[in-house]
Amino acid sequence: MDKIEQALLRTTDTKRLLLGSGVLEKVPAMFADLFAGQTALVVADAHTWRIAGERIDTLLRAAGIPVETPFIFTDPDLYAEWGYLEELEVRLRDTPAIPVAVGSGVINDLTKLASGHLGRKYMVVGTAASMDGYTAYGASITFEGNKQTFSCPAPYGMVLDGNIAAKAPAGMSASGYADLIAKVPAAADWMLADAVAAEKIDSFSYALVQDGLKETLAAPDRIAAGDSAATAKLAEGLIMSGFAMQALQSSRPASGLEHQFSHYWDMDNLCYRGKHVSHGFKVGIGTLVSTACLEFLLETDLPAIDAQACAAAWPTLPQLETRIRALFAGKSGHLSRALVETRDKYVDAEGVFRQIRDLQAAWPGLKARIRAQLYPFDELKEKLRAVGAPYEPEMIGVSRERLRDTFRRIPYMRSRFTCIDVLQRCGLLEEMEHRLFGPGGHWEV
Ligand SMILES: [Zn+2]
Repeated sequence: MDKIEQALLRTTDTKRLLLGSGVLEKVPAMFADLFAGQTALVVADAHTWRIAGERIDTLLRAAGIPVETPFIFTDPDLYAEWGYLEELEVRLRDTPAIPVAVGSGVINDLTKLASGHLGRKYMVVGTAASMDGYTAYGASITFEGNKQTFSCPAPYGMVLDGNIAAKAPAGMSASGYADLIAKVPAAADWMLADAVAAEKIDSFSYALVQDGLKETLAAPDRIAAGDSAATAKLAEGLIMSGFAMQALQSSRPASGLEHQFSHYWDMDNLCYRGKHVSHGFKVGIGTLVSTACLEFLLETDLPAIDAQACAAAWPTLPQLETRIRALFAGKSGHLSRALVETRDKYVDAEGVFRQIRDLQAAWPGLKARIRAQLYPFDELKEKLRAVGAPYEPEMIGVSRERLRDTFRRIPYMRSRFTCIDVLQRCGLLEEMEHRLFGPGGHWEV
């Protein structure tokens, strides 16, 4: 049994996946198999209609499947926003047809949530290897100006044709590559969370993401050159990450500290040159920061840390909340989230003592595993450059000062335990900040 079949046994929503060159022609067979006797309705935008949607619509009709008039978003600035979702929902309410989403992140997320709201299954034909959200449960939609994740089932079936994804607009594969390389430090974060019993490693979903990961990531130049086999491999890695999240009903297998930077900038509505910055590009910069944090941790003599002294210096929850209120002054949306997430993650002084002792006990083996897991900072940066992804914060419109401000607030933004929590508990955050932004640091301010 291959990896895809094994994964499909554990996924809760997705029943079929077809991945390869020329598989677009097999969409009608999959549709007939999953939705026997039902009507199809292609959802696309003007671009994805041209490159694949129209062909799929024709193929479905030729196969004798009843097909409704397609729904094509015409707005050139289409993004995953609530208004567009409502437009699609209104259309789908009129018909029992099964949506066939043709596109990448935006079209998939809009169709996923609209279908979820109507309690209807759908399938997706991916047109780019741009992120790992295709097969994840939940959709990322901007509602009242804030990007939020809404819970809804993943697609029932998915098709991705490497020939089409390889020709996606510039930057899409690079964005997917950055989202995939994030899984390297994310695994190290999970190892740390496992060691302190904050979140145990689930070996199945861990392996689904990590097995073969480095081989896929070894070819950034081929992906940049539009090689369809390398792009299909990238898509497979991303889709497996989605399956891992489905299997565990958590984004932990695919997301660590690096994603927290992306989520933070989502809340800021980060734009560069008038356009929203892609998920992968934000995550790529976060991956550089988290790798730097993990490298610092590896250089630290953790067993020599005085756990008793760290516990004595650890703030109470009210003290921490006072600190957070000062840090987030003037940012009320971020503040309310920070208070909730920090409360969820909080352990008292005794808990901090225990966590540090657990890490110290595990350290010799853990340190070796983390070292073997990571790409060194410079190699990571070079890979991002080679694939055509941003590798300096300024390339996504984030100044060094802004990156430093984000770094200071990140420890409070998510209840998920990562390397930054280890640094905080060990009293090393200031030193870390100095290494990143001080004289001679990666991003000297
Ligand atoms: Zn991601």
